[in-house]
Amino acid sequence: MLVVMQHQATEEEVAQVVTTVEKMGLNAHPMPGPTRTAIGITGNSSSVDPRSLEVLPGVRELIRVTRPYKLASREMHPEDTIVEVGSARFGAPFFTVIAGPCSVESESNVLQVAEYLMSRGVTLLRAGAFKPRTSPYSFQGMEQEGLAILERAREKTGIRIVTEVMDTEQVDAVAASADIIQIGTRNMQNFSLLKKVASCNRPVLLKRGMSATLDEWLMAAEYLLAGGNKNVILCERGVRTFTDHTRNTLDLSVVPPAKENSHLPILIDPSHGTGRRNYVSAMARAGLAAGADGLMVEVHPDPSTALSDGAQTLDFNEFDRLLESLRSLAEPLGRNIG
Ligand code: PEP
Ligand code: MN
Repeated sequence: MLVVMQHQATEEEVAQVVTTVEKMGLNAHPMPGPTRTAIGITGNSSSVDPRSLEVLPGVRELIRVTRPYKLASREMHPEDTIVEVGSARFGAPFFTVIAGPCSVESESNVLQVAEYLMSRGVTLLRAGAFKPRTSPYSFQGMEQEGLAILERAREKTGIRIVTEVMDTEQVDAVAASADIIQIGTRNMQNFSLLKKVASCNRPVLLKRGMSATLDEWLMAAEYLLAGGNKNVILCERGVRTFTDHTRNTLDLSVVPPAKENSHLPILIDPSHGTGRRNYVSAMARAGLAAGADGLMVEVHPDPSTALSDGAQTLDFNEFDRLLESLRSLAEPLGRNIG
């Protein structure tokens, strides 16, 4: 439910609505807007008598939110959310690129990529220190040491860090090192992890589960929002289909409905979405055209030696060409690439 306050409602009137909602055993989420404040109500409100709120001073109207997710919905939050990380912005009109190797491999590698990206105006580095690998025999990541390497790269270059957390025990350590905490496809519905990350004061990049519907994905985002973390960025990384010409099927068709139903920014990951470097740039440009708010792309100085996901990783020249083409396409599409 959404309580819309009158244009001239006072802070005391807003506070009275909040207290009344809380006395009903529900949660109130005041959302100040440019012209009036709205108060989102979450919790099981089936037994609430709307008249008890309607009669409070300063209340204009009550709107029933029909979506299963509330705080993630546009019904409750009509304006786009813009997530700010350093000088980067996620949300229209910005189109923001996150790039870097799949995994943290060594200090020199991370530093080389960080310096290269900063020289190209890309201020967000991705690299996993904890890696969710299908095989237990594959490289599992540098873990805590990897986090320390990422922190040093930020100190030296000013680049901001995006890195994955795999389980609840790692949350404090990852939150201390990351500027954006990534939740991977395999953990989209790890509800204890979502709850723990919700209480971190860090933006979250929530990848879509590889077989999740849009509603399930937005319900996962709802766990983060309901737990108090407002800075959620969605990331489409491909879903499982019958095809085998690509590793996953990058579902660009999820972008318009995600934007229609939710105010959260959405990125495209064409690297995991295709699994093949030859297809990454075309799908990245398609993501821009489809209305995504940015990209997450795997980039490595020598993908043939990468310790994970080399086959889908661009080298510096390929990434330069991609950036150039995105920059020339952004303007006619009304987007602003930093
Ligand atoms: C990654 O970003 O390296 C990763 C493991 O992604 P996903 O969770 O989409 O597979
Ligand atoms: Mn990867």
